[in-house]
Amino acid sequence: MEQPVEVDVVIVGGGLAGLAAARRLDRTGVDWLLVEGSDRLGGRVVTDVVDGWHLDRGFQVLNTSYPRVPALVDIDALDMRYFTPGVLVRRGGKLHRLENPLREPQTVVQTLGSGVGSLADRLKFAALATRCATYPPARLLDAPEMTTQEALRKAGLSHRMIEEVLRPFLSGVFGDRSLDTSSHVLAMVLRSFARGRIGVPASGMGTLPAAVAGPLPYPQLLINARVLSLGPGMVVTEGGEIRCRAIVVATDPVTASELLPGLPRPDMHGLTTYYFGAPHAPIGEPTLLLDGDRREIVANTIVMSNAAPEYAPAGKSLIAASAVGVAAPSGASEAVLRVELARIYGVPTDDWELLSIVPIPHALPSAPAPQHRLRKPVALGDGLYVAGDHRDSPSIQGALASGWRTAGAVLADLGAPAGASRG
Ligand SMILES: Cc1cc2nc3c(=O)[nH]c(=O)nc-3n(C[C@H](O)[C@H](O)[C@H](O)COP(=O)(O)OP(=O)(O)OC[C@H]3O[C@@H](n4cnc5c(N)ncnc54)[C@H](O)[C@@H]3O)c2cc1C
Repeated sequence: MEQPVEVDVVIVGGGLAGLAAARRLDRTGVDWLLVEGSDRLGGRVVTDVVDGWHLDRGFQVLNTSYPRVPALVDIDALDMRYFTPGVLVRRGGKLHRLENPLREPQTVVQTLGSGVGSLADRLKFAALATRCATYPPARLLDAPEMTTQEALRKAGLSHRMIEEVLRPFLSGVFGDRSLDTSSHVLAMVLRSFARGRIGVPASGMGTLPAAVAGPLPYPQLLINARVLSLGPGMVVTEGGEIRCRAIVVATDPVTASELLPGLPRPDMHGLTTYYFGAPHAPIGEPTLLLDGDRREIVANTIVMSNAAPEYAPAGKSLIAASAVGVAAPSGASEAVLRVELARIYGVPTDDWELLSIVPIPHALPSAPAPQHRLRKPVALGDGLYVAGDHRDSPSIQGALASGWRTAGAVLADLGAPAGASRG
């Protein structure tokens, strides 16, 4: 499609935030155009299909309790494949199960008798998760703010419970091994895990942005149109200039800070996912495994194809192992990783094929305290707006909510109707 020379609103970036903004603008009759620099929509949520394997570009999951998801997509149509609630923790030669007490009440007794953390730890953790799941979000976000590490200690959890279970789990969620992430982000993460189910669409996580984009008019989604610069009322792409009344910068956080010089550049956390193909599944269930023995390369691992057989060719199993940070791949690190996975799963890994290493240096914006109520300003003045996970919380929900909120701010300033609350 040829690039127009004038529209009301230009959205820069076709990740989840940009697509959510487009969905809201599209309901109002405002003339909008989304320009995406790469050759596809979806941003950080993408699935590569290689020789019958579905490899998400970095292990990530969709949580059904994210409020903005059902508002924008039909979750049933995503054909979700769910993981087991709770986790398995490898410690001292055994696998210990830690269930989510709110989702599987019948397993509370089993969980209380399991071998990770003390009984007091498991009760305190259940109480923390219950508070996060049941208090209104405003109450959680008005609580005194501190680092995640401090919040876990304040909840009375022991050093052992934090090191064997919560650090491996949360470092994979935040991309932050030091657990400096704000306790307000922790509260919202625990809330979503306690209230929702986690899983992946049968055809890969890339199905999610495709579903958000689905109802949008295709000609208004311009791909391969990288924005080189912008200023009030003007966007410059490789294809020329576009005049407009408002610009929503919905790029990744680092590019946003380059296009909008007043915007601080956030620190970014890296994540690396290792995908292995195996002739047999090393365990029989779709459950996240954590390394309670703290060998520290693998933050978490899961047999993806136990939840979603579609992720692997017939008769094969796909294992994802996530590490915090990005390190140069080497034969030595692969050997160490295989040993680590063999210990975690309790099976040899010599016949596993390393399918892909997916290093994402800028996986998630850091969210250290203070994040206050998580929402950062999106209207910058002069018709310039910013959206993305760095304006709300570093998550799919944060990206979608931020795009929706930013489009609302644009519409208010343009004097247009705000768009229906459901998109
Ligand atoms: C490995 C990994 C694991 C994750 N795990 C989870 C998880 O389990 N659960 C969860 O909720 N979240 C997870 N996330 C986070 C979630 O994926 C992101 O928060 C979300 O996708 C961010 O969306 P966004 O629209 O804000 O930004 P992005 O997805 O970064 O989209 C920005 C878009 O802007 C485009 N762009 C950039 N520069 C330009 C330019 N100059 N001109 C035009 N276009 C441009 C980009 O190509 C991109 O399409 C994970 C992320 C990663 C990487």
